[in-house]
Amino acid sequence: MRRLREGGVKSRGGAGWNGLEGVIDRSWHQYLGQSMLTEEEQDAFLESIQTVRRHIAIQLMPVQQSAMAVAHIGKLHKNVDQLLQDSDKILAPLACQAGCAHCCHVRVSVSQPEVFHILTALRQHSDMALDSLIQRLRQYVETSQHNSLHIRQACAFLVDNLCSIYSHRPAVCRKAHSLSVSACASGAEHIPQDLQLILRAEALIQGHAAAYEDAGLPAASHELASAVLLALADAQAQETWFAGKRAGAV
Ligand code: SF4
Repeated sequence: MRRLREGGVKSRGGAGWNGLEGVIDRSWHQYLGQSMLTEEEQDAFLESIQTVRRHIAIQLMPVQQSAMAVAHIGKLHKNVDQLLQDSDKILAPLACQAGCAHCCHVRVSVSQPEVFHILTALRQHSDMALDSLIQRLRQYVETSQHNSLHIRQACAFLVDNLCSIYSHRPAVCRKAHSLSVSACASGAEHIPQDLQLILRAEALIQGHAAAYEDAGLPAASHELASAVLLALADAQAQETWFAGKRAGAV
């Protein structure tokens, strides 16, 4: 089995990471931009982000090892999963079912701690499985460079219509939901979703990202396939990423 060492990134988004930013999932910006929220609702949303940020920053402060800082992102995933589970009690059942992978054909964004979290799963892969994944990731990146954002392209982690890193998938994948499977199947530009659910999940995601940044740990969004390839290529990436915290960056 190939040994993947704790991998990571250059502090403060080193040169390799800078070019990967600003992809996908601007849904909450879109809602704010289109004034679908009242001023009060916008203020409440932004305050929610700050509440999460303060709460998580306190938890990250004493963390002394990169592996613990990476593992901490699992709490975000757990909380987003809980939101979706609880939504069944207040919404009509979501249209999402196991084996339905329409939403795995759009470009996905991932934060740096999430990239390292995914690498912990990849360490369990055999050499052959890892080589195969790296080929799919490279193919994805190469093809996507020639495609517009609107062209649907299967995620490199999608195998037999199932997510091969399901327990380690990014928060944006966990947040994704639909109230209409036909809208997903037709690749509709606007998928019917629950606005409150999106905003609650986004408050968690943005609050966590801000708390990591406060701790000196870059947590900007990057395109998933490119970011994982970059981290796989640098065995010291995770430690370099964590060095920002050890240096006392704020
Ligand atoms: S990481 Fe998994 S859930 Fe997310 S888009 Fe890829 S295959 Fe789908």
